[in-house]
Amino acid sequence: MTLSHEKLEELAFAILEAAGSAPLEARTVAAHLLQANLSGHDSHGVGMLPTYVTNIAKGLLRPNSPLETVSDQGNFLLFDGQRGYGQVAAKSAMERGIARCKENGLVLLGLRNAHHIGRVGSYGEQSLAAGLISLHFVNVADHAPLVAPFGGKIARYGTNPLCIAVPAPNPDDHLLLDMATSKIALGKARVANNKGQQVPKQSLIDTEGRPTRDPSVMFSEPPGALLPFGEHKGYVLGLLCEVLVTALTGGPSIQPGNRRGGGIINHMLTILIDPAIYGEQEAIRQEISALIAYIRATPPAQTDCPVMVPGDPERQRRAIRRSTGIVIEKNTWTELVEAALSVGLNLDDLNLTEPQPSP
Ligand code: NAD
Repeated sequence: MTLSHEKLEELAFAILEAAGSAPLEARTVAAHLLQANLSGHDSHGVGMLPTYVTNIAKGLLRPNSPLETVSDQGNFLLFDGQRGYGQVAAKSAMERGIARCKENGLVLLGLRNAHHIGRVGSYGEQSLAAGLISLHFVNVADHAPLVAPFGGKIARYGTNPLCIAVPAPNPDDHLLLDMATSKIALGKARVANNKGQQVPKQSLIDTEGRPTRDPSVMFSEPPGALLPFGEHKGYVLGLLCEVLVTALTGGPSIQPGNRRGGGIINHMLTILIDPAIYGEQEAIRQEISALIAYIRATPPAQTDCPVMVPGDPERQRRAIRRSTGIVIEKNTWTELVEAALSVGLNLDDLNLTEPQPSP
């Protein structure tokens, strides 16, 4: 099925509102999910809605939870998301952190106990829009482990994403690294499984610890495990995300002494830096522009695949998907329809253009 991003956002908004969110919350989460789909990260787009609806029914996600201020001391801010929608809690926490960074130049911002914050790059984009540099470290709690440590046979920690955003003079050059520290995010295994596709090599092991490209191993009982990207290097980076986030936000780590209720709880540690604190802005901006141009001009190994910088693939996909619409494969569409029905929503009332078969 192919839907325009406007229609898909309307559908997401209606499901979220019917599932109990106040209009502003439903609008914020729907916009976040659609931006993920537009950016090419379907793993963190509207396909998450059925999980959110299930988690609300189980009391694992609490709509309309206010962001609680745990600590506010100059450059240090710590918030608690109270199991509310992470997309709302993280956006609000970032707004507070950005305002403080504009005053103080440097902020350490913690957010704990937010339900799934979604695509972490979205918060990097918030700081880019404000002209700030940001670094984000995230862990995943309340959930069974998903990723096997390097050399391990079973999972012991989460997909712990990392994001670094650096503004450039031209917004089309902004650098936005936003990645899981596993070779693929769990959502990418879900999307591949729904499409009946294999995942890239060295992404997964089965329940016996054998390499496999079959994503269904992540959804069987007992499950297999995702592998870290870059062998031991991705593993240690993911582990250090876990440790830094836990040490500085107080959010529980994935060790088994902590509660595992089956939800998706994210804790995020963010460092916000105003580049203006170092003065000489124009010289630094020119340097970044020159470096990006130099890297992009690298002769490509394959003539039809030019060298890119982080953030380029998402910019390209957004330009395409805004005009072509977003393809929702059959299984995800079925899950969305079921989620809508489960919260009492009749899709016929939504004035959605009847989805057309994909070309
Ligand atoms: P990915 O592998 O698609 O991209 C990772 C990064 O590499 C991006 O910054 C991208 O711009 C860059 N990139 C990709 N191809 C490139 C190229 N050829 N040249 C230069 N740069 C390139 O991302 P992923 O690891 O699959 O993560 C997907 C999403 O999942 C992210 O948005 C992440 O925040 C999200 N995620 C969220 C959670 C959570 O718990 N909330 C957990 C894991 C992942």
